[in-house]
Amino acid sequence: MLSTMQDVQLNISRILEHGRKVHGRSTVTTWTGEAEPHRRTFAEIGDRAAQLANALRDELGVEPGSVLATLMWNNAEHVEAYFAIPSMGAVLHTLNLRLPPEQLVFIVNHAADRVVLVNGTLLPLLAPLLPQLPTVEHVVVSGAGDRSVLDGLDVRVHDYEALLAGRSDHYDWPELDERQAAAMCYTSGTTGDPKGVIYSHRSIYLHSMQVNMAESMGLTDRDTSLVVVPQFHVNAWGLPHATFMTGINLLMPDRFLQPAPLAEMIEREKPTHAAAVPTIWQGLLAEVTARPRDLTSMKQVTIGGAACPPSLMEAYEKLGVRLCHAWGMTETSPLGTMAHPPAGLSAEEEWPYRITQGRFPAGVEARLIGPGGDRLPWDGESAGELEVRGTWIAGAYYGGASGEPLRPADKFSADGWLKTGDVGVISADGYLTLTDRAKDVIKSGGEWISSVELENALMAHPEVAEAAVVAVPDDKWGERPLATVVLKDGATVDYTGLRTFLGQSIAKWQLPERWTFIEAVPKTSVGKFDKKVIRRQYADGVLDVTRLA
Ligand code: AMP
Repeated sequence: MLSTMQDVQLNISRILEHGRKVHGRSTVTTWTGEAEPHRRTFAEIGDRAAQLANALRDELGVEPGSVLATLMWNNAEHVEAYFAIPSMGAVLHTLNLRLPPEQLVFIVNHAADRVVLVNGTLLPLLAPLLPQLPTVEHVVVSGAGDRSVLDGLDVRVHDYEALLAGRSDHYDWPELDERQAAAMCYTSGTTGDPKGVIYSHRSIYLHSMQVNMAESMGLTDRDTSLVVVPQFHVNAWGLPHATFMTGINLLMPDRFLQPAPLAEMIEREKPTHAAAVPTIWQGLLAEVTARPRDLTSMKQVTIGGAACPPSLMEAYEKLGVRLCHAWGMTETSPLGTMAHPPAGLSAEEEWPYRITQGRFPAGVEARLIGPGGDRLPWDGESAGELEVRGTWIAGAYYGGASGEPLRPADKFSADGWLKTGDVGVISADGYLTLTDRAKDVIKSGGEWISSVELENALMAHPEVAEAAVVAVPDDKWGERPLATVVLKDGATVDYTGLRTFLGQSIAKWQLPERWTFIEAVPKTSVGKFDKKVIRRQYADGVLDVTRLA
């Protein structure tokens, strides 16, 4: 028997029109680095998204299915592109501006982007690549920046504001099949070429509803969210779409991502929420330790993308800011888990839940697969690779314009689940604790050592700013941990002192023999520890390693 319910397609244009009308007074504030930030209401963003769509169709010949890239910071214009492009039936492709040039070239060519919308400040990055990007016909430049770098190149150059000026603020958004492509994002590709994930209108719509649930970020139009996580990093964790559903005000840092301007933004604009990877929160912590600021407007902070050291959570707790740990991936849109503790617990009882990666929502099914391919119980002890499935989880990668979708066996199970490559345990009540990436775990004498556990324990030392632990080859044990440590200014602790400290919480056989102090932990394009660089540095002998007896 079929239902008797209406079959309305979950199109992004519906989110846009809702936000534009019902939450027309909510605002997107963009930091400018000048005396006043720039403010635009959702009503204005809606008008301008329609103007942009009209311009893209009438001036640039954009058609349904055309792929349009953005090379932009987090700002109001990027939000306009987020809505205009998918709503008109085209596909938004956000480019990670921190990728090495050769990967950017690969991605743009693979996606066959026809148009690049770019912030003027990023033209020096884009211009030298354009001769290698034959599919790009148009470049649309937003904001200040020297446009002469585009002179003589075989593209049509447009000014964003000039394109919008005088256009109708009405667009008859097409009724789209909700399964069509809306946006695409390539994985940050630490191994091999980046792989493209294509989100549908439906997946983005449903994911946005999840973001807005109280068990996830649960914000309303009384909130302002400081979105530090870039719009090119998994759709800024879904926040721009989610906010137009519920009227959450957005505070966008544009290119001002350093700790000092972030601290100033928080103090002046008083966001109630923020979202960013641990590296950002580490940097901000050092800043406010040196120059105290009031961060207490932030009632909740979503931290994820890499493991949040419990010591970082504690440090912010002392500043009156509650960090909520979340896990996700490009392939999961990204919301997988969030670490809200169950009801009815004291603060002390909540703590063990808060330092997990979090609880699965109803929309994400999870299973753990052991080394032999067997399915493991949710008992908080059995460690295996996490596999997930759900309506906002990727079922394949983009195979290119003429290719079939790709389902490599190391990424997708035969029955269609996503293999996350993350290793961990799940408790009986559905909380995930990750112990490592499958490729980062240290296999020592047939036993596994969690690099993340060692890192968290090291970063709990008061004189340690950051620490990354990687597996290095060892004649006797196969692999052993190498601890690379960044000390805080004025620290006096030595390797032996750190090892003794670790010994208070870590089993003796897991303690590293190899140690090195470094200036900074190498980071990936989205601010995560780049362990492959450390492993290479060790292999190349460029690290000054001390071996304790
Ligand atoms: P990306 O697709 O670049 O966002 O990377 C996704 C990967 O980041 C995941 O597969 C995890 O390995 C890692 N990750 C994300 N969130 C967390 C977290 N809260 N704790 C530990 N690792 C995380």
